Amino acid sequence: MEDREATGVPGRALRDLRRADAVDDAVVHRLVAELDEIEGLPRADPTGAALRAVDVALQAHDLGLPELERRAQLVRADVLDRQGRVAEAGRIAQDVHAWAAQHGARYLQARSHHVLELVFSDLGDTAVALEHALHAVDLLDDRGSPAVRIDHLLRLADCLSKNGDHAAARRRFPDVLRLAGEVGDVSRVLLVLNNWAYAETVAGHHERALRLSEQLQASADRHGVPLGLGERDTVARALMGLGRWEEAEELLAAALVPEPPDRAPEPDMLGETLLTLAQVRRARGRSAEAQQTLDECVRTCEENGLSGVRVRAREEQAQLHAAGGRYREAYEEHRRFHAETTELRSLERDARARTLQAVYETSEAQRESRAYRELSLRDSLTGLYNRRHVEQEVQPTLHRSADRGRAVTVALLDLDHFKQVNDRCSHGVGDQVLQVVAEHLARAAEQTGRAGSFAARMGGEEFLLVLVGPAHESAAQLERVRRTVSGHPWGPLTGEVPVTVSIGAVVVVPGGPLPDLPTLLRLADQRLYRAKSLGRDRVVVDAG
Ligand code: GH3
Ligand code: MG
Ligand code: MG
Repeated sequence: MEDREATGVPGRALRDLRRADAVDDAVVHRLVAELDEIEGLPRADPTGAALRAVDVALQAHDLGLPELERRAQLVRADVLDRQGRVAEAGRIAQDVHAWAAQHGARYLQARSHHVLELVFSDLGDTAVALEHALHAVDLLDDRGSPAVRIDHLLRLADCLSKNGDHAAARRRFPDVLRLAGEVGDVSRVLLVLNNWAYAETVAGHHERALRLSEQLQASADRHGVPLGLGERDTVARALMGLGRWEEAEELLAAALVPEPPDRAPEPDMLGETLLTLAQVRRARGRSAEAQQTLDECVRTCEENGLSGVRVRAREEQAQLHAAGGRYREAYEEHRRFHAETTELRSLERDARARTLQAVYETSEAQRESRAYRELSLRDSLTGLYNRRHVEQEVQPTLHRSADRGRAVTVALLDLDHFKQVNDRCSHGVGDQVLQVVAEHLARAAEQTGRAGSFAARMGGEEFLLVLVGPAHESAAQLERVRRTVSGHPWGPLTGEVPVTVSIGAVVVVPGGPLPDLPTLLRLADQRLYRAKSLGRDRVVVDAG
């Protein structure tokens, strides 16, 4: 049986996108360490993980640390999903995902893809789940505690297997296993071996599945950890695939001996295992015992509302009747099996549709409000971002770029003698000139090809360009902008009146201090003033 159970190790500190510069570093580090830990926590204690997550979310909220707050929300979503509250989990994950994408918070994006993968796997949409699993791994880069990296990589391998890409899955499992072994995370080693063995059984490679099962058993023995029901089910299936019925039966029967109450198995695991045992006993010709086991399975299903296993138990019942020569009963049972399977499928489809709807509803509403928000951040004449956007985005861009070791160039651009354009042509022509210049600036920002670069209109004939990337590249880009503006064929629009631009820019290098926006604008403005006084139509970068 494939399993998601995972046990955590204390994580290491992660770099975090920080908005609240006033918050004490020590406080942030403590919250990050707490999050690293609960992100890798055992699902055996979902309530504990959820409670700690809620606590961290509240603290992060009060301190004005939105990214940490959302990381904590995702831990809660993960727990909700495991408790079967799939729609709630999906909604939280979608909301966090939208925020993370909007703010370029990569680690948070990786984590939200991870939770969305769990959600879509539960909804049975293996293709969408695989897509999320891929992003969850890609966006993680080398970030994340080992526990988180193992979880993301393992889920990708599981999803590849569920999508039938057994070769790709088989390439991934060994890496994940090595990683878990290297950090000495025993429960994750067992989890990886279990899921890999299960994947091999599904792929029909029973020998390989058995070798992995033996490795699973040996690892568990070495560390004195008893195998859970799901793991024993995996081993038994490998044995069954090879026709080793007797060993499979022994293993399952031993697994079903009542556990101490505090280790009572999950009802669905119990139902599954009883069904597997009934199959083994029938295959061994022990019909009476098989029937007893199957009855117990059916009881477990009915007491716990396990409709999926209940229906499969009917199929087994039909087989048992047939094995005993009771063909009429076998036929009847088979008919019931088919009827119930069909009904179950349509119920599952309905439930899945409802859950999907619930997951998407909020993201739809969000998209709408995002569209309005986006409008309020645009300048109506040129379509460029406006000053409000600049106020919101420059600081986060500086932090993100510093995290990635990238420089940021912030440039103020002011059209030269623009009053003349208005006076000698017309205000309308002036407006058109502003629109053409805006297009050149937007293209220049795009050409850096890096997230965080943008052009904005600060007001009047004054613009701002934020260019992410090496300082010399940005300086060359600004020089190109200057030439593009003066070289534009303005004649049809302004006649004899030239249009040129003066540019003053300041470079923020990674590793240095991160100035606040007013400081940046003041420095850029000083350079702009210099460009003007040196004769206009020129770029002054940094040089005091
Ligand atoms: P310089 O910057 O080179 O020193 O000279 P300038 O003529 O550009 O200087 P100034 O800042 O004094 O003039 C800016 C002019 O831009 C004044 C105003 O009429 C014009 N302007 C501001 N906003 C708009 C607008 O939205 N449309 C048009 N057509 N003109 C605008
Ligand atoms: Mg001006
Ligand atoms: Mg001007």
